[in-house]
Amino acid sequence: MSSMPVMSGRDVPERITVLSGGVGGARFLQGLLHLARRTGASPEVTVVANTADDWWLHGLKVCPDLDTVMYTLGDGIDVERGWGRRDETWNARDEMAAYGVGPAWFGLGDRDLATHLVRTQMLDAGYPLSAVTEALCRRWQPGVRLLPMTDDRVETHVVIDDPDSGERRAVHFQEYWVRHHAEVPAHGVVPIGLEDSSPAPGVLDALAGADVVLVPPSNPVVSIGTILGVPGLREALAATPAPVVGVSGIIGEDHVRGMARQLLGVVGVEVSAAGVAEHYGPRGRTGSDGAPGVLDGWLVDTVDEKAVERLRSAGIAARAVPLWMTDDDATADLVAASLDLAAEVGRR
Ligand code: GDP
Ligand code: CA
Repeated sequence: MSSMPVMSGRDVPERITVLSGGVGGARFLQGLLHLARRTGASPEVTVVANTADDWWLHGLKVCPDLDTVMYTLGDGIDVERGWGRRDETWNARDEMAAYGVGPAWFGLGDRDLATHLVRTQMLDAGYPLSAVTEALCRRWQPGVRLLPMTDDRVETHVVIDDPDSGERRAVHFQEYWVRHHAEVPAHGVVPIGLEDSSPAPGVLDALAGADVVLVPPSNPVVSIGTILGVPGLREALAATPAPVVGVSGIIGEDHVRGMARQLLGVVGVEVSAAGVAEHYGPRGRTGSDGAPGVLDGWLVDTVDEKAVERLRSAGIAARAVPLWMTDDDATADLVAASLDLAAEVGRR
């Protein structure tokens, strides 16, 4: 195992672009900003966030991953829950339920509702999601430039055996995850609209113009997988002059939290740190699904040290370091290790 690098502000690159899902991405970003404070660096961080979890509820556009990043970095998140607003109340949800209007399994908190109302109002007025996100961030000041991966409507659906009807049907990702807790048999992941989407303004430039691109331990299928599926985005990542380094969200034989294990199984990817890296693929070659590879470097947890050699043979520089994002300092150390590996592969 390599020891954690001690970084100075000079070692932190100026332009850092990070792909992100919700909780895993947000925690990683918190660690990055903590590292910047710790070292006195002031990098310009651009976040390309997944929007394929988005959905419409009660006529409102809900963007779970954008909001998790915005609330987490803007200090508005409910830390215990990991999503939604702190000091939340649920009066609107309960009033809806009193009218018999569901879904009972998905509630929007009262504070959170304001975000969705403002967002939907702006979308109705004709603003693209990227402009709406910028406007919402003027309040939250997350300390990063937060970009949706696309302004187009993309919604991940999961094909499940419906426990109520016994029939096989496609449900929105939120229904699979929030209602069924990823505990029902799943047979396919269908990102509706993804093929016809295009990157939001600023996304391709943020990849081409970065000093380093980081891929946090976000879900490889429904967070990073959908981001990479926006036409042109994977190609931009494969072509950027910046080193691209990722972090495994799989430690040992399981995800840390969430439903990555289940969904990797559905798309036929080995549930291991090495399996996910090979799925993303080494740059200059193709990944295990035949698409252009996107990784130069990959961090695995110390328990997965044996993956390092396997990945080196596959053309990906790997290191084993502690990957648990338990607090800001541990997470900042993890980010420092990813920047250190990026500097190393960037010199080659
Ligand atoms: P979501 O959109 O809220 O599901 O969040 P992301 O897609 O950004 O991240 C979810 C992934 O982060 C899951 O697959 C987890 O295994 C991974 N994850 C969460 N916490 C940790 C951690 O402390 N360490 C590592 N290595 N991965 C983590
Ligand atoms: Ca998500």
